[in-house]
Amino acid sequence: MKRISWDQYFMAQSHLLALRSTCTRLMVGATVVRDKRIIAGGYNGSIAGGDHCIDKGCYVIDNHCVRTIHAEMNALLQCAKFGVPTEGAEVYVTHFPCLQCCKALIQAGIKTVYYAKDYKNHPYAIELFHQAGVKLEKVELIDKVIDFNNVVQ
Ligand SMILES: [Zn+2]
Ligand SMILES: [Zn+2]
Repeated sequence: MKRISWDQYFMAQSHLLALRSTCTRLMVGATVVRDKRIIAGGYNGSIAGGDHCIDKGCYVIDNHCVRTIHAEMNALLQCAKFGVPTEGAEVYVTHFPCLQCCKALIQAGIKTVYYAKDYKNHPYAIELFHQAGVKLEKVELIDKVIDFNNVVQ
């Protein structure tokens, strides 16, 4: 039996989380990993109990939907809520982080950002990641990486 690689395992988790996104503008998922263990996950969505874009439409200001909290922020906030340290952790995201999330990830002590898709990769975000010594690595999700028929009984 061929086991799924760690990178594909965590990246698949982020893509699974993205399916829970409530904003149709962009479905994003983020998985925070420490010592090869998933410590948090987040997706692009409204505050808990709030109106969802998929029900009420997006709340767009300056071409951005302001209703949602980005996946990366949601994952970090889950750590804050439950008191889980993020220092030295890694994050797997479906899309290259925006500038705001970039700053939050750096400030939370994230050391490596694995992203599946390029998404408006902001030059200043790349500059800040480099400045902070955060490693950036593109890890594309392999099509059909989850093959339930591949399991040897
Ligand atoms: Zn929205
Ligand atoms: Zn963001």
